[in-house]
Amino acid sequence: MEKGGRGDIIVIGAGALGLASALALARDGWQVEVLEAAGVGAGASGGLVGALSPHIPRGWSDKKQLQLDALIGADAYWREVETLGGLAPGYARTGRWMPLTAPEAAARMAADGAEARRHWPADFTWEVVPAAMLPAWVDPEAAPWGAVHETLSARLHPRRALAALVAALEALGGRVRCGTEVRAVRPGCVDLAGAHLSTEAIVIAAGTGGAGLVAPAMPGSAGLGVKGQAALLRPAGPPPPAMIYGDGLYVVPHDDGSVAVGSTSEKAFSDPAATDSQLDDLIARAARLCPPLRGAAVLERWAGVRPRAPKADPLVGPVPGWPGVFVANGGFRTGFGFAPLIGAAIADLAAGRPSGLPARFTPAGHGLAPSGAALRPGAAPRNGSG
Ligand SMILES: Cc1cc2nc3c(=O)[nH]c(=O)nc-3n(C[C@H](O)[C@H](O)[C@H](O)COP(=O)(O)OP(=O)(O)OC[C@H]3O[C@@H](n4cnc5c(N)ncnc54)[C@H](O)[C@@H]3O)c2cc1C
Repeated sequence: MEKGGRGDIIVIGAGALGLASALALARDGWQVEVLEAAGVGAGASGGLVGALSPHIPRGWSDKKQLQLDALIGADAYWREVETLGGLAPGYARTGRWMPLTAPEAAARMAADGAEARRHWPADFTWEVVPAAMLPAWVDPEAAPWGAVHETLSARLHPRRALAALVAALEALGGRVRCGTEVRAVRPGCVDLAGAHLSTEAIVIAAGTGGAGLVAPAMPGSAGLGVKGQAALLRPAGPPPPAMIYGDGLYVVPHDDGSVAVGSTSEKAFSDPAATDSQLDDLIARAARLCPPLRGAAVLERWAGVRPRAPKADPLVGPVPGWPGVFVANGGFRTGFGFAPLIGAAIADLAAGRPSGLPARFTPAGHGLAPSGAALRPGAAPRNGSG
């Protein structure tokens, strides 16, 4: 990969969005340093699930198209990450089964198959499988009307994917400095405890910690953090070979024989890291759906907070009024799925190229007006692409 000879850039946050941005920037010739307050994967990205799945193909939109592009590109992206750094991200295109519990759902999902044929490449299918032909690892009682089987979904192992991104970044000369909390940001400078670092450009990819950093330029950007609990199980027998999504939860088989089950969705919570009876309930429901999970050992219980921007879309773009400062946030439920596209968009923006992302992903698209205080007198806020 050819170095473009660009300058120094600091990325704040070593989660999926920060590391994917850092890697894309390093590939584009920047000298990249990632500053991470705690450790790699200390935030939402350090979890257990790692489902990369398409939205239902009904009501096609630019977001669904982008998600499709990201899913199609995921094979090549994660293969390249592994080749660069030598670490496997636990990625595989397993496909997904979605049990159907009502005849109306079966009819609707069959119609969705026609939409998938219109919008998806022919290599990927979405079809309704009758109850009599379900695989043994989907409980027939949980799927009385059969199941949708689609072949586009993939999975990765979140923590190994982060380690693979770090290795790829380091192979290109970038580095990650853990235990380094950024206290404040302004154009060309980040403040640490007792130190200031000068840099040409800055990417704020600090997850739920990002809102405070951009607040002086974009008041109101906090959005919502939505807590999720998940578990990692070890079945006694063979795990299911594909993902299952039913009863509002994911069953995700990883390549080491463990199976992740996720996730709760909690807008109100007091302890972001605690797990409780909601997770017990989730594990029990997963076992009802998928017989191989019955009696499985629980290897780990985990909770994290999904970074959500003011709207449910990702928040990506130049920070208004702060030249050379960019934000990559709002991964919400699909941060790993979107990370390669968001990373590429950040590299485009930092180089002055249009990002190709929809305008509604930008700060302005989220309704985030620049604060008057952040503007230099007479300066226009920088918005959108470039
Ligand atoms: C239970 C659960 C299940 C999920 N399942 C899926 C799934 O199946 N598929 C999917 O695609 N997505 C899933 N997600 C969502 C996905 O995990 C997130 O969208 C994604 O991890 C967000 O990445 P991020 O880099 O924006 O944030 P984070 O991973 O939170 O990273 C931000 C980092 O910034 C650091 N930081 C914060 N403040 C500072 C500071 N001031 N200075 C320096 N560093 C700082 C933090 O320590 C953290 O490491 C799930 C999330 C949860 C919680």
